[in-house]
Amino acid sequence: MAEARPSSLPRTVAETTRDLNAWIEVDLGALAANLGALRAAVGAGVEVIGVVKANAYGHGAVPVARELERLGVERLAVFSPAEAVALREWGVTRPVLVLGHSFPAAARAAVASGITLTIDTRSLAEAVSGAARELGTTARVHVKVDTGLHRFGLDPEAAVVLAEAARRLPGVEVEGLWTHMANADEEDDSFSGQQAARFEEVARRLEWIPYRHAANSATALRRPGLRLGGVRLGLSLYGLRPDRFGPDPGLVPVLSLKARLARVLSLQAGEGVTYGLTWRAPEPSTVALVPVGYGDGWRRSLGNRGWVLVGGRRCPMVGRVMMDQFLADVTSVPGAAEGDEAVLIGAQGEEAIGAEELAGLADTISWDILASLQARLPRLYHREGQIVR
Ligand SMILES: *Cc1c(COP(=O)(O)O)cnc(C)c1O
Repeated sequence: MAEARPSSLPRTVAETTRDLNAWIEVDLGALAANLGALRAAVGAGVEVIGVVKANAYGHGAVPVARELERLGVERLAVFSPAEAVALREWGVTRPVLVLGHSFPAAARAAVASGITLTIDTRSLAEAVSGAARELGTTARVHVKVDTGLHRFGLDPEAAVVLAEAARRLPGVEVEGLWTHMANADEEDDSFSGQQAARFEEVARRLEWIPYRHAANSATALRRPGLRLGGVRLGLSLYGLRPDRFGPDPGLVPVLSLKARLARVLSLQAGEGVTYGLTWRAPEPSTVALVPVGYGDGWRRSLGNRGWVLVGGRRCPMVGRVMMDQFLADVTSVPGAAEGDEAVLIGAQGEEAIGAEELAGLADTISWDILASLQARLPRLYHREGQIVR
């Protein structure tokens, strides 16, 4: 009998995935490389705010946040107070900024966890102040200026009023002022210039607020003048370009989605596959069952349109995507067998399928493709194929 291996020995991704139907591989080396490339692109003196909302765009919020922290990222950002508190519960210690709305009832838990809320109402500012006094601490807050996106935040005039009011509340330190661009990743991003002018005007009136930020990935790459005190990087940290217009700092995709063929079967010409029999074999064909479905976040709209890599070849997805599985035509891969690895996102041999390509096929954006990947998929964190705990 083979000796049991001491569990402290590093294990490879290959060993770990032998018994898995489907899984996500998160390449921490690529994450570090992207951070380095982005730091070089935005220059010294600009903080990196690592955006880990929506489960770190499907990569796993806690492991990614902890790795970014280890790599020296100055701050982290999420959407909701609940996401922020969860990071603290799992040991994340860097400043965590909430980018979305918080209800006053969420203030106490956030302040107790040392979370930086973005305030948009007087009642929230007062709730933060009350919690800070009760806990004997000082709570930092940021103020969001709506300069034209018309999403979350306050009009310039209201932002000034709230910031001045919050400044006077005991236990509250207004640390940051920020905004967000509407057309940063459009070919014509000139509206960013107008938004920047509105933001500067507010910032002039609130010059006592020390920290300013306005850039997501696209803005950070395309508009050096808007890098300010820090840049809020999401997609680019995960190795994808937000658009084709800004410079390419040489990003490497961090996430791969893989599965093992669960069944390989031969079809005669005319036989159909899966619900509705929407695809029929045009000639005697070999098809393979891939155990990933829309319940994992794999788009149903990719049915009869997408591809998977098997044996280093692009194999067309055939029939409908179901909750847990779909089929691919592997006729071009002689010897395809149960247990073979299929790559849904990532590289295999000379071929690669990226989230951008899938977004194009599924009529969405790469952010959506990644953020849709569900918790059901096990996530493995590795450096050069060695599992990292
Ligand atoms: C999600 C988000 C970001 C990150 O955007 P990317 O395009 O992924 O870099 C930055 N700022 C705000 C306010 C966000 O909501």
